[in-house]
Amino acid sequence: MKWYMADLHIHSTLSPCGSLEMSPGRIVREAKEKGIHMIAVTDHNTCDNVLYAKRIGDKIGVQVIPGMELQTEEEVHLLAYFGTLDAVFSFRDVIYGYLPDVKNNPDYFGDQVIVDEDENVVGFEEKLLLNSLSLSFDACVRMVKDYQGFPIPAHVDRASYGVINQLGFIPDYLDLEAVEVSRALTPEQAVAKWPELRKYTIVSASDAHYPEDIGAVVTLFFMEEPSWWGFMQALKRGKEAVQVLHRSSNSLELGQDES
Ligand SMILES: [Zn+2]
Ligand SMILES: [Zn+2]
Repeated sequence: MKWYMADLHIHSTLSPCGSLEMSPGRIVREAKEKGIHMIAVTDHNTCDNVLYAKRIGDKIGVQVIPGMELQTEEEVHLLAYFGTLDAVFSFRDVIYGYLPDVKNNPDYFGDQVIVDEDENVVGFEEKLLLNSLSLSFDACVRMVKDYQGFPIPAHVDRASYGVINQLGFIPDYLDLEAVEVSRALTPEQAVAKWPELRKYTIVSASDAHYPEDIGAVVTLFFMEEPSWWGFMQALKRGKEAVQVLHRSSNSLELGQDES
C-alpha cells in the first residue's frame, strides 16, 4: 500500500464556468505532469467529457474516477462518484430530466463544449448546466447511492452552494461518510469552525476551472493502487488512509467562490 495523490474535483470545457483550455486531454496531461495519480472531471449536472478523460487517462496512466457535481434545488453542490462509466451515464440520463429546460446563453454563461480525446469539438450541451435540479439534497444523495455511487457534499465551508450555509446543517439521517472542504482552508481550520465535521472523513480538491489550478490541493489516499476500489476502501478507513495536502499557492484568491 502507498499514498497516492488525487484531485477529484475539476471542471472541464463542458462547465460554462470552466476555461475553454480545460479539454479532457489537457486536464489529464496537466495532472500527469504534476504527479497526480487519480482525478475526477466533475462538471455541473452532467458528464459527457468524462468518457474522453477516461480514455486518455487509461492511455497515459492517470486513473479517472467517473463523477459529476450536482446542484440540488436548495442550491447545494453535491459531488457524486461512480465505479464505472456505465453507472455515471445511467445516473446522468435520469437526473438530466430534472434539469430545467432552459437553453444556455453562451455569451453570458460561457460555452458548454464536449471535446474528444483528439481535441475535436464533438458537441455542445444545449441546456444551461448552471441550474438547480428539481431534486432535493436528500433525494440526490439517495439517488447517487441507488446507482452505487458515493456522494460527497462539495466545499461545505463555502457561503455559496455549500450545504452548511444552504441547509443550515448536514443531515445526519443520510449516513454521509465524507465531506469536501474547499481549498480556502485546511481540514483542521474547517473542524475548528464547524466541530460537527469531525465525524466525517474530510477530503479536498482544487475545484479547478483553469489548468494552472489543477492539483493546487490534493487528497492523499492510502491504497494498493489508484482505483475505485482503493478510493472506497481508503474512505471507509477514514483519517488513517485519507490526508489533505495543500501543494502550492495559486492564481485564485483564497476563499473565492466559483461562479
Ligand atoms: Zn461547486
Ligand atoms: Zn465545482
